[in-house]
Amino acid sequence: MKYRRLGRTGLEVSELSYGSWVTFGTQLDVDGSKKLIRQAIDAGVNFLDNAEAYAAGMSESLMGVALKSYRREDLVISTKIFWGGAGPNQTGLSRKHLLEGTRNSLKRLQLDYVDLLFCHRPDPNTPIEETVMAMDSLVRSGQTLYWGTSEWSADQIVKAIEFAKDYRAIGPVMEQPQYNFLVRERFEKEYKPVFNKYGYGTTIWSPLASGVLSGKYNKGIPEGSRLARELWIKNIMDENKLMTPEVFAKIDGLATIAKSMDATLSQLAIAWTLKNPNVSTTILGASKPDQLAENLKAADFVDKLDDGVMKQIEGILKNKPA
Ligand code: NDP
Repeated sequence: MKYRRLGRTGLEVSELSYGSWVTFGTQLDVDGSKKLIRQAIDAGVNFLDNAEAYAAGMSESLMGVALKSYRREDLVISTKIFWGGAGPNQTGLSRKHLLEGTRNSLKRLQLDYVDLLFCHRPDPNTPIEETVMAMDSLVRSGQTLYWGTSEWSADQIVKAIEFAKDYRAIGPVMEQPQYNFLVRERFEKEYKPVFNKYGYGTTIWSPLASGVLSGKYNKGIPEGSRLARELWIKNIMDENKLMTPEVFAKIDGLATIAKSMDATLSQLAIAWTLKNPNVSTTILGASKPDQLAENLKAADFVDKLDDGVMKQIEGILKNKPA
């Protein structure tokens, strides 16, 4: 496993990491979660991703049990705050929800602190200044070591960084965006100034577009798969045109390239994300040990992605941001 700096911070994260969205608490029970965490850590993964929203907190509780077997210093643990419940003040980035949500997440994780704390979405109803000062106090009180954003626009990120600078507060240092063969515009274009000027780190999500880029959905929706189980995710994929005949044709084309490299489609898709130097870590999702084993080998193929292969890939994708 190789390790990369999280942006300009001093923190090193494994270039492949493991996240618990959808899987922990729904597809995986405590033993299943423990087993996959063990497999990831044995392969050199040091960063595990979570969120208060995942399985309504159950995902953090299961991870908390699994973490008992490891030395805290060997791991980088994150969680994300935004969707904490249905009532008023249980959602969003108000000072109240950020402080209470983090306290509850730490309890479920059975930790004194997380390493990374993300604002899981931008909150149009809370002034960015309030959010920055609340996150500053969470760092200063030792409940997180770093804080960041998830799916914020470049303008929102810059506003938060600049406000923090002006008020000598601790600003955000990393973003958690979606980035894969099909979703590239924001990462490669909009965030360019954020990477160049501020050296913002990234922990990217859905490298396989929820499994679509493994090719498993090209001929229908397999029983037991994520999109068979979670209709709402399938609907989002449809809305975003990520499961059209054109997309499946591209995936068939990519399969030929993967084959020529002796890689699987999933390995090609994950390796391609690692090729981008602005990716600090690619968060893997896996509901089964064989998926995780396959995906963890993806880093072996990064060196095979030379200019010629990258050009071939662009020829198939035809979505490189201008
Ligand atoms: P992927 O896009 O890699 O999708 C993972 C899913 O794809 C698995 O659970 C599995 O689903 C299927 N899959 C994985 N590997 C294979 C394989 N080799 N062959 C066939 N199918 C495979 O990642 P996620 O969408 O899970 O995102 C990764 C992590 O990123 C999350 O766990 C979470 O931590 C984070 N995240 C953050 C978000 C944010 O808003 N900040 C949003 C979403 C994710 P199955 O077996 O069920 O079909």
